[in-house]
Amino acid sequence: MKVPTSDVPTTVEIPAQSGAIVTLATGHRLTIIDVEGSQVADLFAVSANDADEWLSVPVTRASSWRLFPAVGQSFLSTAYRPLLSFERDDSPGVHDMLEAPCSPEMYRAMAFPGYHPSCSENFRTAAARVDWHPQCVPDPVNFFQRTPVEADGSFTALPALTSPGDSVTLRAETAVHVIVTACSMDLEPINGDRCTPLRLEIGP
Ligand SMILES: [Zn+2]
Repeated sequence: MKVPTSDVPTTVEIPAQSGAIVTLATGHRLTIIDVEGSQVADLFAVSANDADEWLSVPVTRASSWRLFPAVGQSFLSTAYRPLLSFERDDSPGVHDMLEAPCSPEMYRAMAFPGYHPSCSENFRTAAARVDWHPQCVPDPVNFFQRTPVEADGSFTALPALTSPGDSVTLRAETAVHVIVTACSMDLEPINGDRCTPLRLEIGP
């Protein structure tokens, strides 16, 4: 896969219930900004050099011994190599690595009648731009998503705590394609009372 990248800082707007893909060179940074607040950002990533090496949430959990991401940790690939590191958190610090991405199947299971946009479909649309067509949609890192776990192992999904302008910043540990979707879920209140946009800033 080709790696079109730029040394010039670039901003990418992600409208509500849609997604975008950006390519980072090694050492470049991606900041994900919750523009209006209380909006979940699903993140997927794949090595720019190998379409079979993608960000694995189970590998990341197992290697970091954490259920939820925190500053200082890396997000590892299916080959146990770091793709991204979590450099800075300018949000309440509540994120998720448990939930599946929303999908047509999920909305059908929730008895939503007709078509509903989803992170899975927005992922596939974005991934196709770099000719990435995985058989299954990988589990995402769900920035800003609040899924507190209880002592008995149960967990719930609550509205994100983020305020307008809150952000997280990741550093590319290798050349990597990153897909971010502004979660489409509006049948549960994880995105507050409505789905809103995200903004990406990329650069050295
Ligand atoms: Zn979603």
